[in-house]
Amino acid sequence: MPRPPPTSTLGAMSGTIHADICVVGAGPVGGTLACRLAAEGISTAIVDRAPLPPMEHPAFDGRAYAIAAGSRRLLEAAGLWEKLPDPPCPILGIRVSDGRVGQAASPLFLHFDHTEAGEGAGPFGWMVEARALRVALNAHLHALPALSVFAPAEARVERDGAGARVHVAGGPTVACKLVVAAEGRNSPLREAARIPVSRFAYRQTGLVFAISHERPHGSTALEHFLPSGPFAQLPMSPTEGAPHVSAVVWTELTPVAHHMLRLDDAALGREIARRLGPHLGAVRVIGRRWHYGLSAMHAHRYHDTRLVLVGDAAHGIHPIAGQGLNLGFRDVQALSRLLTEAVWGGGDPGDPALLARYQAARRPANLAMLAATDALDRLFSTDNLLLRAARDVGIAAVHRLPPLKRAFMRAAMGLSGAA
Ligand SMILES: Cc1cc2nc3c(=O)[nH]c(=O)nc-3n(C[C@H](O)[C@H](O)[C@H](O)COP(=O)(O)OP(=O)(O)OC[C@H]3O[C@@H](n4cnc5c(N)ncnc54)[C@H](O)[C@@H]3O)c2cc1C
Repeated sequence: MPRPPPTSTLGAMSGTIHADICVVGAGPVGGTLACRLAAEGISTAIVDRAPLPPMEHPAFDGRAYAIAAGSRRLLEAAGLWEKLPDPPCPILGIRVSDGRVGQAASPLFLHFDHTEAGEGAGPFGWMVEARALRVALNAHLHALPALSVFAPAEARVERDGAGARVHVAGGPTVACKLVVAAEGRNSPLREAARIPVSRFAYRQTGLVFAISHERPHGSTALEHFLPSGPFAQLPMSPTEGAPHVSAVVWTELTPVAHHMLRLDDAALGREIARRLGPHLGAVRVIGRRWHYGLSAMHAHRYHDTRLVLVGDAAHGIHPIAGQGLNLGFRDVQALSRLLTEAVWGGGDPGDPALLARYQAARRPANLAMLAATDALDRLFSTDNLLLRAARDVGIAAVHRLPPLKRAFMRAAMGLSGAA
């Protein structure tokens, strides 16, 4: 069925441009939402206070994301997947083990193979560097006719029942129906709307590096649960001069993490090898060392007058399961579906009932993932004998019950539940 044109078109009018939606924050979540909406022909503006090109530089962000199947579908629909500069490495197997430093794995471990996950299951996910996603976003944001990009620029926002006005410093005013807060965990728009937030501090720091290793990883990831936090090795595509490469996300108690950061390359390589085990041969840290203080947070509401929160502006979780961005992408899927229906159906994308439907679709699922990752961290990052015994019984049960194992795998792939 041919679709009617959007309710408004983007065009300069005496210092004011009109758009249906204005997204504030061009990170992976806000940028993807803007591309997805613009791909549907919805007039959209996006503002980021930082300059976008430097975000593509390897020195800007060391993270690599494990992108689930549902998130990949979103990136394809937004036109971003094909613009990734390097082929993402698929995750075909995951080995989960439990132990102590210097002990490669306890006698109890789980091996998940993607072929066991049942019908319709491909890889568990794909490893995509944060930098690579920025390259794709920056190339695509500027190529979409329905999208106006303002960066670097500060945004001042006024909202009332009739609409919103985003005053772009040094640029126009964007008159729109809805403002999307996508500025990450410290969202100024969320704070200005006085939306309360619950916060949980972990006394842990996430250390992130790339390593080169002697033997191939076979597209298999390792999650090794240690008393001070999980140690993950995630398979990456080869780079020039390094045929076997993985990303390491290593959670440590903060004082220990800072000690590790001060070690020289050889000593740090030895500490990594003690946690990784011998299966990949000799390892070497390549590139910069990164660290992120870990915390969790959740907004009590996801919307206010003509304002809606997405991604880390609404929720932040422990990286133990690599799900933070995947949750943000699920927000984008739910919100873009509702907004597209509203705009193309001649409705109001800032309608409070629509925003309440978005909150109902996403808040319980995000809260459940926050609780699950928090429980996982508490259950595994402990030396308590009772808890260790309980989780070993759990691991053994998953091992013995193929349907339970399959359910875990399908959940990790985004094949069950809301995706
Ligand atoms: C160690 C670690 C490992 C992780 N690994 C994974 C993983 O494997 N898989 C996964 O799914 N997730 C992972 N995550 C989580 C993931 O990094 C976040 O969920 C994701 O970055 C959130 O994206 P976002 O776009 O919501 O926010 P951000 O990435 O924080 O982007 C916010 C954007 O808003 C802009 N901005 C900020 N303030 C303003 C303002 N006032 N005005 C305008 N613009 C503004 C910023 O410049 C930025 O571009 C990990 C996190 C950590 C700490």
